[in-house]
Amino acid sequence: MNDMILLKQGEIVLKGLNKRSFEQKLLSNIRKRLARFGEFDVYAMQSTVYVEPKDGADVDGAFESLRKVFGVVALSRAAACEKDKDAIVACAKGYLAEQMRGAKSFKVETKRSDKAFPMTSIQVSQYVGGELSEAFPDTAVDVHAPELLVHVEIRDYAAYVHARPTPGAGGMPVGSNGRAVTLLSGGIDSPVSTYMIAKRGVKLIPVHFFSFPYTSELAKQKVLELATLLTDWCGEMKVEIVPFTHIQEEIRAKCPEEYFTLVMRRFMMRIASRIAYRNGCRAIVTGENLGQVASQTMEAMACTQAVTDLPVLQPLIGMDKEEIVTVARKIGTFDTSILPYEDCCTVFTPRHPKTRPNVAELEEVEKALDVEGLVNEAVAGTERVKVSCFA
Ligand code: ATP
Ligand code: MG
Repeated sequence: MNDMILLKQGEIVLKGLNKRSFEQKLLSNIRKRLARFGEFDVYAMQSTVYVEPKDGADVDGAFESLRKVFGVVALSRAAACEKDKDAIVACAKGYLAEQMRGAKSFKVETKRSDKAFPMTSIQVSQYVGGELSEAFPDTAVDVHAPELLVHVEIRDYAAYVHARPTPGAGGMPVGSNGRAVTLLSGGIDSPVSTYMIAKRGVKLIPVHFFSFPYTSELAKQKVLELATLLTDWCGEMKVEIVPFTHIQEEIRAKCPEEYFTLVMRRFMMRIASRIAYRNGCRAIVTGENLGQVASQTMEAMACTQAVTDLPVLQPLIGMDKEEIVTVARKIGTFDTSILPYEDCCTVFTPRHPKTRPNVAELEEVEKALDVEGLVNEAVAGTERVKVSCFA
């Protein structure tokens, strides 16, 4: 007999009429996530998702993986036993021993979906509660404000016992709030911004600007590695790798140095918008952070955002670097982000960048370039790479 996993749904329970489609999205994300751990029955009832493993399934692996599924606020691993009152007691005594010893008070709550079981829910709770309080005399029964809530579920094929849940990833199921493109560099910030918007239920398409040979093949591999790490949270993604070398060379040849970064960032936004429209995306996500570098002043951001009519989402805008690093470590991207391969921005950084530019100046500077032609060329040369955590 196998342990089972119970998942408590998060915010989606608040969504009224949309609840059903949110729940379907969550179930489908969970099923995809579980595919590599064997076969499971996955179904939802009363804001709880039940994950029942079939023979041979890897429940430990499944549990770890489900901790990263958005839309789940808490997970419990439930121990399975025979549907017999004394088997349930024995299971609870063994499985919950540590938690029972650590708590001052407890209460047993029983759910019985198998109505043929010979005791009522209340009878089961009383019986199991009585036996547990004898076995753990230092832990008192308290039906009003128990420190530990012991759950017993009597289901079709087995009974299950579980107690303290583990916190889940929170947020909303990926795909329940539309799609966006996310600008993914090899740095620390953009994997975090990608994670944060995925958490709000958005399906993401990463876009990376690649300046071979100024940045090496290893820099591209690093970005694909970051995207692959992010699939733990975001699900499977298609990364769009945009050839950026010709644009950067044109900028360097034809624009004043102080404008290099800004003109380049405006190209990134134009290309990202094209990719967004082609893929039904409704926003562009970046890892920008107010005041962090010259291109992240309010004036500079006004200039970069002026070339797109899509909302630019900047979830890191008000965070301190340390806070961003904390999240990067938590989501597992930090160690890859700090590998030393150069980004296209660092290769062409001006010595004295313009920090208070305005749109009119930039439009003037860009007159030297065939903006439309360069954008078309870059979009046409884009390479798509699928990344997945399911392989
Ligand atoms: P990061 O750590 O994400 O690289 P950063 O602090 O280095 O951010 P910038 O280099 O100014 O900041 O870039 C700001 C944002 O622009 C990045 O967070 C990212 O969203 C996007 N960006 C920068 N370079 C690239 C690139 N080569 N490809 C795709 N997006 C990029
Ligand atoms: Mg960067």
